[in-house]
Amino acid sequence: MKRNLLLSPGPTQVPPQICEVLSRPIIHHRTPQFQNHLKVATEGLKYVFQTKNDVYILASSGTGAMEASVCNLVSPGDKVITVEGGKFGERWTEICQAYGTQTKVIEVKWGKAVEAKQIKELLHAEKNIKAVFVTLVETSTGVTTDIESIGKIVKDTNAVLVVDAISGLGATDLQTDNWSVDVAIAGSQKGLMLPPGLAFISVSAKAFKLMEQAKSPRYYFDLRKAKEALAEVDTPFTPAIGLIIALNESLRLIKEAGLQNLFIHYARLAQGTRAAMKALGLSLLSDEPCISNVVTAVNVPNKIDGGKLVKTMRDTYGVTIVAGQGHLKSKIFRIAHMGCLDEYDIITGIVCLEKVLHKMGYSFTLGAGVAAAQKIFSA
Ligand code: PMP
Repeated sequence: MKRNLLLSPGPTQVPPQICEVLSRPIIHHRTPQFQNHLKVATEGLKYVFQTKNDVYILASSGTGAMEASVCNLVSPGDKVITVEGGKFGERWTEICQAYGTQTKVIEVKWGKAVEAKQIKELLHAEKNIKAVFVTLVETSTGVTTDIESIGKIVKDTNAVLVVDAISGLGATDLQTDNWSVDVAIAGSQKGLMLPPGLAFISVSAKAFKLMEQAKSPRYYFDLRKAKEALAEVDTPFTPAIGLIIALNESLRLIKEAGLQNLFIHYARLAQGTRAAMKALGLSLLSDEPCISNVVTAVNVPNKIDGGKLVKTMRDTYGVTIVAGQGHLKSKIFRIAHMGCLDEYDIITGIVCLEKVLHKMGYSFTLGAGVAAAQKIFSA
């Protein structure tokens, strides 16, 4: 039987302990048993979000929590800032526009990160900005944003800082409270090593004040309802019971490993991956200081069909990496190193990449990538 190794930036590999919990019979949600699961989950999420704020659990993919942040924070006509340096920054703009905001877009070259001073300048140039929407790890380019510096700027204004941490929460540092992040968003299928289906959103007191005044229509994602329900250890609608119980296993595993240790682990996997790509003569889309430890974006070499490379690795050898998105679709491929992965999984991915590149006629020394990664992993 073919393996199914996910080196994709979501969904990521689900560890067997979590699969076991997912296989258990369902329980009813209006019970003390489920209430206990919900309580443990919402407390455990605070550890991963590094916050004392409430974290709400929504039954949706990550985009649902993005939309929840917009419809709860803004009124039609409000001015907001979005940063577009990739597919998911564009999504912020699209959602904000769908809710009728005046959206001031900072465009960033794909592969680069926004600089905090760009946000500072726009906040000064435009009056009454309600919210600044940014992306922790832009999955389409493998770029990490310096949220800490942006937080220092936004906190002294009336605007709230909203961070899409869907890619990366639990895998790369996001200090929600220390960095003055008002709203942070994550999804279950990435650093939390669960199947897709849950979204998480933490909300500061400053953000909640705005949510009480905002005039956008909202129902399912009305966080005022979520707050009221959470005070009673409840949810406004039927929660994704099985996923929430499995989330507690994920949170247990993360706590056991230690968040800081996980950041070091994923950084090491990222280093090994980058070293391997460079040893194969491949160049990276982004570079220091904004390169992410969550996903590595690699430029497809001349005369190689990037789509075919990804497809062959997946369909012939059972190793899933992903192609580019938007205008980078056939120009890059992306290897993720988050979720339930270790160095041997990365080595397997590199072996497979070498094999397929070799078969496609790309010229390099077979084994060079593996050797470079081994050097990092054996140091
Ligand atoms: N933002 C980022 C940074 C992402 O990586 C993704 C998923 N790839 C999303 C938003 C959208 O999340 P979902 O597909 O769970 O709605």
